[in-house]
Amino acid sequence: MNYQQILSEIHEEIKPYMHLGKVADYIPALERVNPDQFGICITTTEGESFMLGDATTAFSIQSITKVFSLALCLNIVGNDLWNRVGKEPSGTAFNSLIQLEVEKGIPRNPFINAGALVLADLLLTHLPSAEADYLAYIRSVSNNHTLDYNREVALSERETGYLNAAIANLLKHHGNLENDIERVLHFYFLQCSIEMSCRDLSEAFLPFANHKYAFSPGDVNLTTSQVKRINAIMQTCGFYDEAGEFSYRVGLPGKSGVGGGIAAVYPGRYSVAVWSPRLNAKGNSIMGMRALESLTTRTEESIF
Ligand code: GLU
Repeated sequence: MNYQQILSEIHEEIKPYMHLGKVADYIPALERVNPDQFGICITTTEGESFMLGDATTAFSIQSITKVFSLALCLNIVGNDLWNRVGKEPSGTAFNSLIQLEVEKGIPRNPFINAGALVLADLLLTHLPSAEADYLAYIRSVSNNHTLDYNREVALSERETGYLNAAIANLLKHHGNLENDIERVLHFYFLQCSIEMSCRDLSEAFLPFANHKYAFSPGDVNLTTSQVKRINAIMQTCGFYDEAGEFSYRVGLPGKSGVGGGIAAVYPGRYSVAVWSPRLNAKGNSIMGMRALESLTTRTEESIF
């Protein structure tokens, strides 16, 4: 498969959509990003990489980090995780309080904010130095030891993150947070603030395309079964209130973030990361979704 050629064709095809949508502006630091950027990187399980555009520019990965948190939590507590978080699509906004209240503090899945706050809490309980250990994992899995938290973005989000604070309070009220609310929020916002490029992300998602990439000293050891399950949750819950639309149009498990990034995998073959900051009304990158739809259509490679 000539992925480089296909990426060029995709880029031509989706150019007309370049100026549609708008950047996430509810996090002040994200509002300042140049919206007209586009990058994509495919990394195959054979170790080849194919890139186009701004594929080496680092951006705020935001909710994509929830996949790494899930991998770490499953590695640490295994199936006990599911006593505290569900695995069903939410059908509501990623930061909704209503469902959490009705369901008495058990978040629908690990990829909505409530679920990710529980994951952050669990990591704070189990990792000896949560901030450093989390970063070490991301650096190791992406093979880039310069990656870091962007503390300015994290702080900017904390200053305006009233909804996430409300979610954390509701979780605490229902006994589903062990640690201090401020610590959990701080750690959660730090995770979201990590900056990675499409190249870093596609590398970091290889273990979800092929679990054997996770087996190196110091890394998280995911079993084939755990990888399958993480991919299943990406498929059903990875795209806010648009997971059905993404499945229909693209047909790959993946996760998006409000920074405009999307990481996805074609199990056994490749991982792909795409980034363009302008979002649609549901919070997904317009160019990112178009690019991946075109990729799976042109290659006729999808899980369906
Ligand atoms: N830090 C963002 C928030 O909690 C993440 C949102 C996202 O990328 O889905 O609102």
